[in-house]
Amino acid sequence: MSFVLEHMRDNLWRGKFSSFTEDLCVHGLTGRLGGVSKKPYDSLNMALHVGDDPQTVWQNRQRFLHALGLKPENMVTPEQVHGDAVMRVGAAEAGRGARDYADAIAATDALITDEPGLPLVLCFADCTPILFLDPEHRAIGIAHGGWKGTVNKIAQKTAQAMQREFGTNPDELLVGIGPAIGPCCYEVGENVADEFRQAFPAHEDKIVLAEDGKPHLNLWQANRLQLMDIGVRSENIEMADTCTACKHQWFYSYRADGGTTGRMAAVLALTKY
Ligand SMILES: [Zn+2]
Repeated sequence: MSFVLEHMRDNLWRGKFSSFTEDLCVHGLTGRLGGVSKKPYDSLNMALHVGDDPQTVWQNRQRFLHALGLKPENMVTPEQVHGDAVMRVGAAEAGRGARDYADAIAATDALITDEPGLPLVLCFADCTPILFLDPEHRAIGIAHGGWKGTVNKIAQKTAQAMQREFGTNPDELLVGIGPAIGPCCYEVGENVADEFRQAFPAHEDKIVLAEDGKPHLNLWQANRLQLMDIGVRSENIEMADTCTACKHQWFYSYRADGGTTGRMAAVLALTKY
């Protein structure tokens, strides 16, 4: 298993997980190169809510989804609020939030579907993208794990929603944990560290680390371990192990870019036959 950054065309790159094979799904995690947004959103900003020109964002979305062979006009994207709501979407939701943020799926931080060809799109800048693929029941999902979503176990809740809606067996579920701020750069306050100690008593030493006496969080592991706690197999979880703050020439980083910046997208669709 390996996470790689692949060049598609015109300086457009995608991060991809080797276990998410093209016979089952099409996917890509964007970087910040290859788009048309101007500073401070340069250049492949995928989010409508950060103050960038909506027409520019639409051009970026078209570039990336077309390069993947997907229809940008069908993409479904939510208004992400650092909550723990998971929504099942289908053909009826095609296009929600594609060009108009007001029309996005309201207050939702994870989407799941079994509709072939329907691109799910969520946006990130330091928060953890968690991608799900159930090869047996042909279903997918994406969750947004910032610190709040992670401590509220949105990854578990997404897997459980897939279990409920599609019959997904955690034992067979494939997961990819994408680029996000790493423990190297993610210093937090004691109050946040305490919430994680309480939520993950069995894994505290792997999630809350101390560097120079200050707590640092490992969101990658917090999301991986909460999935293993409900039966997802370690060997089925691919980790990008890539810090968006260390590598912010490649990725948007809310922290490293000082707040006002663009967003990467995680894009995932079931292959259409
Ligand atoms: Zn780092």
